[in-house]
Amino acid sequence: MPTIQDLNALDADAFTEALRGIYEHSPWIAARAAAARPFASLAALKLALQAAVDKAGIDARLSLLRCHPELAGKAAIAGDLTAESAGEQASSGLDRCTPEQYAQLHALNTQYNERFGFPFILAVKGPTGRGLARQSIIDTFARRLGNAPDDELREALRQVHRIAEIRLNALLGVEPSVGATVMDWCETLGAISDSETGLTCAYLTPAHQRTAARIAGWMRDAGMTAHIDAVGNVVGRYAAARPGAQTLITGSHYDTVRNGGKYDGRLGVLLPIALVAQLAARGERLPYELEVIAFAEEEGVRYRSTFLGSSAVAGGFDPALLDARDLDGVPMRDALVGAGHDPAAIAAIARDPARVLGFVEVHIEQGPVLLERGLPLGVVSAIAGSSRYLLELTGVASHAGTTPMGMRRDAAAAAAEIVLLVESRCSGHAALVGTVGQLDVPAGSVNVVPGACRLSLDIRAADDETRLAAVDDILAGIGAICARRGVQEQLYKLLEIDAVPCAPRLMEQLTAASARAGLPRFYLPSGAGHDAMRMAQLTGVAMLFVRCGNGGISHNRLETMSADDADIAGAVLLDFLRSFNHAAAPAGSGS
Ligand SMILES: [Zn+2]
Repeated sequence: MPTIQDLNALDADAFTEALRGIYEHSPWIAARAAAARPFASLAALKLALQAAVDKAGIDARLSLLRCHPELAGKAAIAGDLTAESAGEQASSGLDRCTPEQYAQLHALNTQYNERFGFPFILAVKGPTGRGLARQSIIDTFARRLGNAPDDELREALRQVHRIAEIRLNALLGVEPSVGATVMDWCETLGAISDSETGLTCAYLTPAHQRTAARIAGWMRDAGMTAHIDAVGNVVGRYAAARPGAQTLITGSHYDTVRNGGKYDGRLGVLLPIALVAQLAARGERLPYELEVIAFAEEEGVRYRSTFLGSSAVAGGFDPALLDARDLDGVPMRDALVGAGHDPAAIAAIARDPARVLGFVEVHIEQGPVLLERGLPLGVVSAIAGSSRYLLELTGVASHAGTTPMGMRRDAAAAAAEIVLLVESRCSGHAALVGTVGQLDVPAGSVNVVPGACRLSLDIRAADDETRLAAVDDILAGIGAICARRGVQEQLYKLLEIDAVPCAPRLMEQLTAASARAGLPRFYLPSGAGHDAMRMAQLTGVAMLFVRCGNGGISHNRLETMSADDADIAGAVLLDFLRSFNHAAAPAGSGS
């Protein structure tokens, strides 16, 4: 099997020939990428092939899509597929469809082609590379039929690149084994749920405790000591080369939202465990103690106690939370005792900042930025701060038939203007977002001009100045809209959290490790809150984001990622851990 070095050494024609089967009937892609050699890594080769497609015009991209056979289509039935396509379709059992499934796929193929003008393309080997189930292929097909044409064109091209990625792995004999292991573990944990359907793992439920025990078991198997602390965090320690060394912490949360995804939080726990297993197998120790923490609670589903696990480690646990009650009236204190924990011992979980070198969190992006840019990884620059408000508007409820348009004080129409104001003020700034997520006409009627309206505001930005300037403008705009419309406003501030910048020295070391893996330097802010936000109160933090599939969807069962992306995240994190520079992160610098 050729290596990247072998491919670099070929003349351009031989290189194109070697990659002939990678993009279906489209050798021009390899021919154009040949000029970008030498490639530092397989990841760099994949990006160069992708760039060749990006640079080609729309006609070339459409013809690439049209080179693909229909799934279980006429060519498949007649045996006219390329060897690669035939193998892939067979791996998902598409060659063994029932007559009903053939009929369903045939109807979907026809509708899809009519709507988009190219055949439905799906990497049927799926996120793990081992093959999707037939029903899941049919479900995906039906779902993607509803996409807007531009979105679907981009999704089809991403699937083409995913097919190429899997074919390249086969050509070079590369297996993303760390990524595949982590995805298997996510699958195992994803089956441990509070509910019969979907994945729900709320704080201290039986599913939560079983999940913790499973994680602790994997930590021990990997060569770490592991314990579950007084708040439910699973803490694995991989001893340093010499005793008494300081500690670098990595990890994320293992609780989920209701009907959440399998990778949110868990990826950042399981990936470092898989890496420690590799280190331990080689007898390799790091010059510092590595702690992998699976934080017990981040999502706040049961007690609205977001970031509970990381707050305890950072020394910010609020004891008043022990009296919080869940929907069944169970106080957190009782839930802790019931799970075998001692609430009085929580305060002692707090780490000594002088002993901690930093905190690094790997997390799925939970958004579409990396996906749209065709990048597997990005380094987080800052975790966005947020301002949240509830706004109550009071106008005059009046008869919908008899009140002339110019004589209304319509609270919902004022709210509509406010929604558009938030949208326009927050558009055009890369790191600023604004959302009206709740919008309600209390006791509204079809035949009554709305006399009241309630709405929420959520403004986030990676830097506080940008966010506060937007909040000022939006609040002033709300005042003007309400004054002009004769509507009264009452504003309640719900939350204000400052942005958390990541520590430049840790960010640079993560970026350097991704550059060594052949990836471009790419920074992005995190719009969502993460455990790293709380850990920043203890030590300098950095985050590595991993691309999500399915349009970047998260907090949803459709959340997905690929074994290859998990694998390269593992390679980058391992490189970061091995080359981590103590001197660049002095203890207690807190930067
Ligand atoms: Zn998360």
